[in-house]
Amino acid sequence: MQANVPQKHPLPSYLDPNDLGPWGDFLQQVDRVTPYLGKLGRWVETLKRPKRTLIVDVPIMMDDGRIAHFEGYRVQHNTSRGPGKGGVRFHQDVTLSEVMALSAWMSVKNAAVNVPYGGAKGGIRVNPQLLTDAELERVTRRYTSEIGLIIGPTKDIPAPDVNTNERVMAWMMDTYSMNVGETATGVVTGKPIDLGGSLGRREATGRGVFIVGCEASQRIGMPIQGARIAIQGFGNVGGVTGKLFAEAGALVVAVQDHSGTVYHPGGLDVTTLLAHVAAHGGVNGCPGTESLPSDQFWDIECEIMVPAALERQITEANAGRIRAKMVIEGANGPTTPMADDILTDRGVLVIPDVIANAGGVTVSYFEWVQDFSSFFWSEDEINERLGKIMRGAFGAIWQVASDHRVSLRTATFIIACQRILHARDLRGLYP
Ligand code: GLU
Repeated sequence: MQANVPQKHPLPSYLDPNDLGPWGDFLQQVDRVTPYLGKLGRWVETLKRPKRTLIVDVPIMMDDGRIAHFEGYRVQHNTSRGPGKGGVRFHQDVTLSEVMALSAWMSVKNAAVNVPYGGAKGGIRVNPQLLTDAELERVTRRYTSEIGLIIGPTKDIPAPDVNTNERVMAWMMDTYSMNVGETATGVVTGKPIDLGGSLGRREATGRGVFIVGCEASQRIGMPIQGARIAIQGFGNVGGVTGKLFAEAGALVVAVQDHSGTVYHPGGLDVTTLLAHVAAHGGVNGCPGTESLPSDQFWDIECEIMVPAALERQITEANAGRIRAKMVIEGANGPTTPMADDILTDRGVLVIPDVIANAGGVTVSYFEWVQDFSSFFWSEDEINERLGKIMRGAFGAIWQVASDHRVSLRTATFIIACQRILHARDLRGLYP
């Protein structure tokens, strides 16, 4: 029998070693933090493989009677600090590598803001725009039932992400509840208010982006008043971010989404733009705007750029063209490690996803606590607590970055990975 000697850094056998996708980006980020982990470094391999990976078949009956199959995933990256937590995205291009990376970034994010969760993420390879409402509901319910083996209010708590929303969360909560025989509101967050959702949850991610943007601006002496902002993605995150910055006196000069890129050097009217998106599904053709070829987005003169769409948007191909002083990552994983280095070398301050967009999961945590105690807080209370957590976490990250002379991303990873691996160390190895 061949001796079962472990390799030094074996990759999970289910990944293509020649194309690690976003998971490869995460592995590089972990390598950068390893020198700062001290004795906890003995546990670092834990971060390089997800704890649990579930791939499910999601068969549904289409409205015309045909049977369609979709591939679904739920990955629990780490549960040392608490139950898995993270969203579910519906997108035709979702891959296992992507969901693995997103689950790992949730572990880091949750530890960075010190909410008592591990990290998890889910996804279905489906284009929801091509489904009827009834088909979307069936996909959601069947997927929830299939991952029902591993989710639960104290096990793993899904939430909205790309192309999922309150309505999808209501179906997920109902399906899980039907299967377990009791109404379990705490199984998902981002629910409608009338089903145990939290005030302020819908706006929380964009609000968090705005809060860290203000904190960073203050530290580098750049006023928000009059700052020019370019936003990629104008969904829940980009839309709220744009609105809050505009209300604070900034000029949202450009917005790009799947429909096109709109521009106005004097500042777009964000209220009109939000109404246009609600009516037409995209920013393209909004009155009072100039339309730009999509690639020109990266050349726009601005002080702040907010990628708030999908991962791997800022790459070595465009990082050298970005003129902003600051990039605030509203999306998860929008900057590749190589692009991150280019931006840092050029003196562009990058506020990484794992703190910049942590406002969403922070208010998800508030929602979960409110559901457990069946006692609901006012929106002011929620926003105040959110502000306190985001500002406290950002201040600590800024301090670590200046103490060790590292980027804000590495600083966030230092704080978060130490928390995760300290918990791992305290718990010890079972059996
Ligand atoms: N999908 C969001 C994120 O990427 C929120 C996750 C949650 O609230 O659990 O952070």
